[in-house]
This record gives sequence, C-alpha cells and structure tokens, in this order.
Amino acid sequence: MGRLSNLFLDHVGQTIDTPMGLEICRAEGIYMYSPDGKEYIDLISGVTVSNVGHKNKAVTEAVCKQVNDYMHLMVYGEIIQSPQVMYATKLAEFLPEGLTSVYFVNSGSEAIEGSLKLAKRYTGRTELISFVDAYHGSTHGALSMMGNEFFRNSFRPLLPDTRSLRFNNLEDLKFITERTAAVLVEPVQGEAGVIAPENDFLKALRQRCDEVGALLIFDEIQCGFGRTGDIFAAKRYGVTPDILAMAKAMGGGMPLGGFAARPEIMASFKTNPILGHITTFGGHPVCCAAGLAAFNYLIENKLVEDVDRKGELIKSLIKTDDGKVKEIRSVGLLMAVEFGDIDLCNRIAALVFENGLISETFLFNETALRIAPPLTITDEEIYKVCEKINNAIERA
Ligand code: PLP
Repeated sequence: MGRLSNLFLDHVGQTIDTPMGLEICRAEGIYMYSPDGKEYIDLISGVTVSNVGHKNKAVTEAVCKQVNDYMHLMVYGEIIQSPQVMYATKLAEFLPEGLTSVYFVNSGSEAIEGSLKLAKRYTGRTELISFVDAYHGSTHGALSMMGNEFFRNSFRPLLPDTRSLRFNNLEDLKFITERTAAVLVEPVQGEAGVIAPENDFLKALRQRCDEVGALLIFDEIQCGFGRTGDIFAAKRYGVTPDILAMAKAMGGGMPLGGFAARPEIMASFKTNPILGHITTFGGHPVCCAAGLAAFNYLIENKLVEDVDRKGELIKSLIKTDDGKVKEIRSVGLLMAVEFGDIDLCNRIAALVFENGLISETFLFNETALRIAPPLTITDEEIYKVCEKINNAIERA
C-alpha cells in the first residue's frame, strides 16, 4: 500500500473497515484517473452529484471567476450576493409552481433539517412522518426520519413524534392527521434501491395532506436536477409539494443544498423568533456560482430531454437472458440492476470494478447495483459501459 493510502487510513475518519480506497488524481466527463494512469468510469456520479460530468468547463470557469471576485463575505442572508440571487431566481423559474423562495444551505441533511423546522414553525404542529426505507441524511433530525431501524437505533433518543409509513401503501395514509406538521417523501426512493411511486401514490399523498392541513415535503436531493428525466421529479409526477429539498447535483460538484417553499411559508422563519434557521456558509458564493453554471449547462444543452432515452438504452443493453438479472428498476438515469442475491451482487460488483467501472449497491438494498452516470454520458460511452457490465455478469 502506498504512503497516501496509509495516511488516508490513519488520519481521515472512516466509517467502514473496507473503504474503496482508490486514489484519484484527475476526473473529466464520466472518467476518473488514478495516478498510475488507469481509467475508471463513474457510473454513479459521486452518488448523483456530477450530473453535468466532472470538470465541466462551464462550472470550472464560473468557480474560478467567483473565487477571484469574492468568496465568503458574511453569514447567510445579510449581504446581497449575485450568485445566490441569480441562482435562486433561475431555480424559481423551474421549481414546481409557487415555490419561488429558496433558502440555501450546505448539504442535503441540512436542507432536510431546515425543511422540517420550517414545517413545524408554519403549522405549529409537531408530528413528522416519513416512509419505510427512506433516506434523508445523517444529522439527528434527518436520521429521525430515516426509514431503517438498523442504521438509526443506536443513536436514540432521536426526534420525538415521528413515524414511518409504508411507501406506495394507500391504506397507511390514514395515519396522516390534523396532528401532522409534515410528510417527508422522496418522490422516487433512492437508497431503497430505486423504488418509483405507483398508483398515483404521490397524488393521493398530496390529497391527504391537503385534507388534514399537513405540509408535503419532497426530498429531491437525489432525484432532482434532471436525474429522473425532468428537472424535478415533482413535475414528472404532476404533484406540487409545499417544500422541496435539494442538494447533491445542485452545486455542480460543490457542496450546496437548499429548500424551496412558497414565500408565505418561508416567511415564518422571520417571526417568533426571528432567525428560524441560521447557517454561516449556506449558499456560499462559489458554490452558487458553480451550481448556477451547472444548471444553465443542463438547460442549454437540453440534457434532461435525453435522460429517459439514455436510461432505456442502458436497460435494453444489459443482458438479462441468463437469469442473473432479476429486474432493472429505473426512473430516467436513476437505476438499480437487481440480482436478488447479496453474494451474486457482491461478486458482480467486484468484477464491475475490475472492469474499470465505479458502482456500488444501495444503503438499504444490497442485492442491486446502482447505475446513475453523469447525464452527459454519450451513447458510445453507454455501449462501452454496458459491455463491461455484461462481461462482469457473465463471469460472476
Ligand atoms: N436525501 C436523500 C434522498 C439522499 O440521497 C441524501 C444523500 O445521499 C440525503 C438526503 C443527504 O444528503 P447529504 O449527504 O448531502 O447530507
């Protein structure tokens, strides 16, 4: 093992005993390169971050310009910073109708914390509802909304007055009541292994929230910014949430999160007491400049329009005839190749890596392989990638 690998293990905090531990010194487009010149293909976009590809010129130029203009000036919300204002204004154009006020934060977890606090403040209620196998982040509030006991139990006590319902289960909607401040949902469940809403579940959820006066929060941290074939999945499913949480691809590779709401909801952070959410670095100007450049790149290059077709192409190219692949679940370029068996999936994952592809399983589904490449992936690259995946499947 090289010196850097040892220092990595000795001094960089770890959360598992067996990290991938791959050293990368350069990344561009869908490719990452190790110091020995080996090429890897990023099949998961750093977990749905690099939607416009690595080292996107539009993004790097915007970052360099902003670094030269100014970096941090003041805690969030005091000084008018054009990258924040321009990005919020641009997002308002594309967010579901009415969600015209954007609060910038640093990460997905913080976007969830802010969204939950906003819902409690606006409704004056305390109960928060989420779904089984939901992932919303790792901070205490977000962890309280996680739909998986294995990962959250040892951190109890967590937030009180929370409960999990079953995703896609219409019967469970009766548990949303006049006590409920908010229901938090991923329109497409990511870490559950790409579970799409069925039977107009999101519409029924919207209706139930309206009946009892609860707010509906969409977590689009993983599925936003074109990943599911629309800029936001809310639009794809024709449902407008009261609050929409964003992060990951929002910053074009820089750390940035946010939550959007109607102005009258967002205004509740200003009273009883003021400063309903405070963040020093939220909406950092360099991150907003990068995010805006990435967003403009998505729009100007019509990347989102091609996402469904690319997803279908990948699906059609992955060989399913030998029975190892049980199903391929997908919404746009958020995909799970399901093998239905942990050992088989691990063997295939190892061979996929040997073939130079960066992929992984899901937090709550260890029998499926995650495929979520940069949306910039070309057809030629898709053919190359699928050949490598098929080779791994054959050999497993
Ligand atoms: N919500 C969803 C759906 C996510 O996938 C993630 C991260 O994977 C988060 C929230 C948390 O985001 P972050 O890791 O930026 O805190």
